[in-house]
Amino acid sequence: MRKRILLISLLVTTLAIIVYSLVSTQLYYKLTENEKRDALEVYASMFSEDEYTFDDAGAEEFSRALGGARVTFLDGEGNVVGESEADRIEEDHSDRAEIRDAMQYGSGYAVRSSDTLSRDMMYYCVAAEADGQRVYVRVAEFMISSWAMYAQLLPSLISYLIIDVLGCFVFTFIATYFILRPVEDLTREAAGGGTVKTKYSELSTIADILNERNRNIEWKMNEIEEERKLVVRAQDSKNEFIANITHEMNTPLTSIKGYAELLSSGMLDAEQSKQAYKTIASQSERLSNLIACIINYNEIDDDALPAYDVDLTKLAREMLAVVQPEAEKRRVTIIDKIDDNVIVKSRHELMTQLLGNLIRNAIRYNKEGGTVTVELNYKRLVVSDTGIGIAPENMDKVFSRFFTVDKSHSGKNGGFGLGLAVCRKICRRSGWRISVQSELGKGSTFTVDFGLR
Ligand code: ADP
Repeated sequence: MRKRILLISLLVTTLAIIVYSLVSTQLYYKLTENEKRDALEVYASMFSEDEYTFDDAGAEEFSRALGGARVTFLDGEGNVVGESEADRIEEDHSDRAEIRDAMQYGSGYAVRSSDTLSRDMMYYCVAAEADGQRVYVRVAEFMISSWAMYAQLLPSLISYLIIDVLGCFVFTFIATYFILRPVEDLTREAAGGGTVKTKYSELSTIADILNERNRNIEWKMNEIEEERKLVVRAQDSKNEFIANITHEMNTPLTSIKGYAELLSSGMLDAEQSKQAYKTIASQSERLSNLIACIINYNEIDDDALPAYDVDLTKLAREMLAVVQPEAEKRRVTIIDKIDDNVIVKSRHELMTQLLGNLIRNAIRYNKEGGTVTVELNYKRLVVSDTGIGIAPENMDKVFSRFFTVDKSHSGKNGGFGLGLAVCRKICRRSGWRISVQSELGKGSTFTVDFGLR
């Protein structure tokens, strides 16, 4: 950048100096020429036939009077009749421009290169009278040639160019300091992040671009940070999931192992052995139920099977019939508020799980003589009960995996805390919202909102 500024300024100023020198020299030459012509005109006007004879001697005398200017006297036809510099006599001069003009217009003027390059000769010729005859008086003087003038200019031109180079170096330094410094400052500031500001309006576009870039980078960094947090969270959740499974499996396994050891030791009587076999069988079943539940829970995510129209009214009524014996056993009354022809986009097995989990929970976590109301319309499915309810601090957690309010209770009901987590997954798949409202000791209401207005 600095080199470029230096090069351009050098080029421009050198060109300017050369052009200016040539033009001013040309003007000066023209000025000198005009002055010389005026002088020659005055010289020629000083001729008087009374003072000078119209021959060589007269020419020489007139020349002396003019301080050495060359004088030529010519007759009416342009023949030289007197010449101050005898060795330069040329007989017929009528073809010379100044003489031709004088013959035609009364006076004429011409500049011709002399024998040397450094000098030109300026001639001025005027018509005059001698012995009643028309004659011509020509005066001439040397003047500097334009070439010589240019040659004289050369040393000062070179010194100007040297000064120019030095000037350009200084200019480049100052220019880069004042122009590039704010740009460098701006980039340095921008490299540090954050928003940059400039007082120079010319740099505001660059500042805007840098700010935009910085904002994008910050945005991307935040995105990466968010992704990193998600990965950490997913890892934590996976670890927690494994810890929960291990815990859930450990209880039946310990029980199976304990009873198996007792049986093999032969310390149990017939009745105790029978009890031990029963426990081993029930705990094995619990274990296989748990595994089935986990497999089912994981499959909901992986399953890419298509959704289709499901007659939810039919499925809900069937479910009520299935759970009726269990409800009766617990002395719970089921109230049917199911609308006809409620169709949703999902899959049969998923809807059976959703209905089953919500309605069974409402029966299981109920009180004797309580009620369960199942309400279904095209907007929502609402399962409410008059059961034990959920404490406010547990309301958010009930949809989490392996969450059970009361571990002993969960054991009694055979629940692993996966039912509502499965419901939440199924709803998310279809873009539905599942929520709970509850009051401890009074009952709970689970609502699945189909998102239709
Ligand atoms: P579980 O298999 O233990 O029933 P869920 O995921 O279905 O697992 O439920 C999680 C926990 O939420 C239950 O253990 C229970 O404590 C609580 N819960 C679920 N439904 C109800 C309800 N209708 N009334 C009161 N508590 C409930």
